[in-house]
Amino acid sequence: MRIVEVQVFRFSSPLRDVFTTAFYSSSVKESVIVKLRSDDGVVGFGESTPFQYAFGENADISTYVIERQLAPKLVGRDPFNLEEISTVMEKTIPGFYYAKCAVDFALYDLIAKSLGLPLHRLIGGKNVEKVPVAWVIGIKEVDRVVEEAERAKSSGFREVKLKADRRWRRVVDAVKAIKERFGDELEVRVDANQSWSVDEAKRAISRLDRYDVQAVEQPVPAWNIEGLAEVRMSVSTPIMADEAIRTPSDAIRIVKAEAADILNLKIGPQGGIYRCLKTRAIAEAAGLKCVIGSCLEGHLGTGAMVHFASATKNLLSTDLVGPLLRAERVTVQPLNFAEGFYEVLEKPGVGVEVDETRLKGR
Ligand SMILES: [Mg+2]
Repeated sequence: MRIVEVQVFRFSSPLRDVFTTAFYSSSVKESVIVKLRSDDGVVGFGESTPFQYAFGENADISTYVIERQLAPKLVGRDPFNLEEISTVMEKTIPGFYYAKCAVDFALYDLIAKSLGLPLHRLIGGKNVEKVPVAWVIGIKEVDRVVEEAERAKSSGFREVKLKADRRWRRVVDAVKAIKERFGDELEVRVDANQSWSVDEAKRAISRLDRYDVQAVEQPVPAWNIEGLAEVRMSVSTPIMADEAIRTPSDAIRIVKAEAADILNLKIGPQGGIYRCLKTRAIAEAAGLKCVIGSCLEGHLGTGAMVHFASATKNLLSTDLVGPLLRAERVTVQPLNFAEGFYEVLEKPGVGVEVDETRLKGR
């Protein structure tokens, strides 16, 4: 089997609510959609949602990288040769992992469809029956955070993740209010998105220690692995690395530094499933749990990530809220989501049908 055509499209969706993190506020999300066609007529689709503020790549950059750099190297290759394709993409242009993730998801969709198998069967099989999701609450005032946690809990979520910024006392107050209201019925984790210095992180997390927080995610800047380890040694709350991981080698550095208890496998900025299988193996071998992170991908990209999450033995949870926050979708049917869990689809490939009339050229 050979790849004969690579096409790139764009798809934008407004969000149902303005979403604010330490990086920015957003009311719309733009995805890059890759369509691959093989010489026997099978088609695979992939989606990624580049995020320039954390990772230096936006939809224009990803589109250029796929169309002008990667597509000429993909045409004529056997899509099953994932190691060869991964190596060629990295040699052609290092980095630009969102672009490579969209290609990778399309490759997995294509080869799984050609075998008539759901994607998870190619990457370890269904290890988790239903994939859990933490409801993610953007930065807002404490009473509004508690209201949103209440709504999440009543619609079936068992976990919430609170975004935080430099004002670390605000998130400590929010965690306190949620724990006083819901006790152990709602797991809480905190994502500082690199906002804190090592000293601020120690002060904030030592105050969170008493509330049995599930984890604090990326409290210090991505480059500061030693600082992350120093924070981890001084608190009892589990520490998660997120933006610090772009490659399997980054995961090794984090393991060696004993800098994290949990790795966030954010598949978009880590370059897709094939690369994340390597990082996932490092985490498992080091005794670390994994969370499957999100860049607010829609139903297509999230669909691929649900398969990956399902096949992950050391899965703690996911943040796959993109389809729930987006007002529009590129697929004919939504993913099946209820009571805080995604169903793992059993149709061939990712298992979703793309409505091509909704795709836009550039
Ligand atoms: Mg994060």
